[in-house]
Amino acid sequence: MQHEPSRSVRARPIDIKFQETVRYSEMPQNQIENLRQTVTDIVASTPVLDIHTHLYPPSFRELSLWGIDELVNYHYLVAELFRSSSIKPLAFWALGKREQADLIWRTLFVENTPLSEATRGVVGVLTSLGLNPAPADLTEAREFFASQDAEQHIERVMAIANVSEIVMTNDIFDPGEVAYWDRNLPPHPKFHAVLRMDPLLNDWEKALPLVAGRGFDVSLDLDAKTVAGIRKFLDAWIERMKPLYMAASQPPELRYPEDSLRVRMLSEVILPTCRAHNLSVSLMIGVHKRVNPALRDAGDSLGHADLSSVERLCRDFPDNRFLVSLLSRENQHELCVAARKFANLMPFGCWWFLNNPSIVSEITMERVELLGSSFIPQHSDARILEQIIYKWAHSRRAIAAVLMDNYEALQRDGWPLTADQIRRDVWRMFQGNFRKWVGMEVR
Ligand SMILES: [Zn+2]
Repeated sequence: MQHEPSRSVRARPIDIKFQETVRYSEMPQNQIENLRQTVTDIVASTPVLDIHTHLYPPSFRELSLWGIDELVNYHYLVAELFRSSSIKPLAFWALGKREQADLIWRTLFVENTPLSEATRGVVGVLTSLGLNPAPADLTEAREFFASQDAEQHIERVMAIANVSEIVMTNDIFDPGEVAYWDRNLPPHPKFHAVLRMDPLLNDWEKALPLVAGRGFDVSLDLDAKTVAGIRKFLDAWIERMKPLYMAASQPPELRYPEDSLRVRMLSEVILPTCRAHNLSVSLMIGVHKRVNPALRDAGDSLGHADLSSVERLCRDFPDNRFLVSLLSRENQHELCVAARKFANLMPFGCWWFLNNPSIVSEITMERVELLGSSFIPQHSDARILEQIIYKWAHSRRAIAAVLMDNYEALQRDGWPLTADQIRRDVWRMFQGNFRKWVGMEVR
């Protein structure tokens, strides 16, 4: 039989004293402004270690790209040219580099307003270097860059961008690049190597003669002898290059497990090599190559990757560390969730088509909310030196805004936030997480 609570019980006073620790009233405006200024200053003044670029020191000569013609001929801008000009790709590719840059400048900067992220970036670079950001032609900018000493110019550009070290992408299957490594050039103190090996995973038929050509016994069939041969080939490159990590770009179709040469190469060659040398592997997943081949480098697109494959890799290879960046915006939340499950997975960067302020803001916000400061928010992917100026300026602004919102919320919830805590977090995201991940000295 059910009893109604007696009158005396219902009337008993509640004797628990609630400590009001959560206050949802707004913070005073001056306190919010102080916080925002502190975060802005710390994000601006913390040097970045740029963990993925396509930049080279001057010793790599024609591979080391800088200056106005390279900036304007960037493949992001080439893609935009064809939307605003009637020129056909074949006619464009027949032009010389200067004529191409002149056409892009006239089309995207004179006849149109440079509103897109990639065009606005060039404007920001010219302004940062004290040049006219809106000239009728490129004469002044060409004279400026032609008069620069390469080494001093790198120092200046890295100082403006506040980038302390640059991580390269060193393709061991590119004969042009290999020629420089074969000269045993002294390493540049601010440029670090990364062993890039896409053809091993994506096109073994193409990679094979380049492995065999360096004296290793390999065949098309991935038999035990060939596995051993490729591993020796990689060992030799690691010895020479001293890479911070190994890397490959992967199509959205990457699946694991799968009965394929790609997966065997990954699990039998690359991951064991990484473990033997204590190297992390970077997988950049989601490029659909050449959806419009006429556009060449500007003709790549993207697709949705399979996150359950990434999770299975992290689960089956717990002694490997995976740096992962995904090209599809729709994959980003899944990547955060996967990283919560696997400490050997490090999400990094807002890559290529994601490197736009609106999307950097969105991705960084979901990463902070799901992962705290335990991720690497951005890399520049710069191909032309001066791009680090605008790519980092734009990213810093977006990252700072996300941090401000989260610190403001944390203070509102009662946490006694200090500037040192903000410094520690930003350092972790801009340097510390990566240094620790790849075993660099943690300062
Ligand atoms: Zn890249």
